[in-house]
Amino acid sequence: MHSSLSPIPLAPVLSLASFRRQAGGAATVLDAGQARLVTSGRVAIALALRELGVGAGERVLLPAYHSASMVPPVQWTGATPEFYRVGADARADLDDIATRLAQPAGARVRVVVATHFFGFPQPLAALRALCDAHGVALLEDCAHAFIGDFDGRPPGAWGDYAAASSMKFLPLYEGGALVSARHGLDRVTLRAAGPGFELKTALNTLQRGFAFGRLRGLRIALAPMLRLQALAWNALKRRRRPAAALAPASSDSGYGFDPRWLDKRSALCSRLILALSSPARIAALRRRNYLRLQEALAGLPGLRPLHARLPDGVCPWLFPLVADDPDRLARRLLEAGVPLTRFGYPLWEGVDERTCPHAAHLSRHVLGLPCHQELRDAELARIAQALRQAAST
Ligand SMILES: *Cc1c(COP(=O)(O)O)cnc(C)c1O
Repeated sequence: MHSSLSPIPLAPVLSLASFRRQAGGAATVLDAGQARLVTSGRVAIALALRELGVGAGERVLLPAYHSASMVPPVQWTGATPEFYRVGADARADLDDIATRLAQPAGARVRVVVATHFFGFPQPLAALRALCDAHGVALLEDCAHAFIGDFDGRPPGAWGDYAAASSMKFLPLYEGGALVSARHGLDRVTLRAAGPGFELKTALNTLQRGFAFGRLRGLRIALAPMLRLQALAWNALKRRRRPAAALAPASSDSGYGFDPRWLDKRSALCSRLILALSSPARIAALRRRNYLRLQEALAGLPGLRPLHARLPDGVCPWLFPLVADDPDRLARRLLEAGVPLTRFGYPLWEGVDERTCPHAAHLSRHVLGLPCHQELRDAELARIAQALRQAAST
């Protein structure tokens, strides 16, 4: 039945509504301090570690529940990634971190990376105090928390550095941010990645909108030009060596890390969309959609929200639900045309129940449903309906 309908976008896609303003304010990670707009969150992580002078013979603490894209930037510095435990709700296990920081011999821990999973804040004051007590840096991974109010401060305000992924929150083909509330970023100089990248970003941003039935008028107006572009593109692709990638792997949902993107600025088109977007609108709609899904989920057998409530100040990335039979539920939802993300699945090689039973469970059982600001009411209704059907049959 769903095949006759447009697909539902997992991530925000551009439409005219993307530029609507909403009264009121909402802070973004960019408000936390100095910022550099790069092409991905993983590049921002690598830059933060580079600024901190992290290198071989040192350790960087990462959560045992994680995105595979967080590990290669650590390895690129030469440091050893080490995984700390999280609780059943993905909260950082402060006792486990303290134990790892206190180890007297061997490689020194330089950085603790704390991830605000799905937009829900980690215990920042406690993490900050722990890091200060041991003289290590705190890196806030705000890949899931571009917008928020964490005890009156924007995401990223507690860390030495923060890394964010603007493409997870805005209708962008690429985009990340390195932010620091505590250190200057004068040494982080960026340059334009070139006309091929600028063009590819602009066209992909539009075409993703078109693919999901947005910007119909523009699509018709641009159709002749886009046909020409497709021809030119194919000709170009045939001639180009594969090494000369026009865009980073991060833009095509890969986990790879390519240091050639470390000094590249986010595309003009992405920076414009970011500047013209209203964080208040994004936060209000994401919260509304999240609460609608929470309502749809209530009482369904075999699944429950990861978090019992949506606290004030949280602007969710996805709606995380915990399923008893995640493979079956994911299959049923995908069959019904509902896109989803299995964040942290699989975990980095070697991270398992022995490292952290909760991380292993979260990795297997959590499904992330879209709740972004560009979902239409009809699309949300389809997701809710598919959930009810998938859970009850
Ligand atoms: C996506 C993600 C990153 C990396 O962000 P990219 O923009 O994809 O490079 C880092 N940490 C977490 C927790 C993520 O989910």
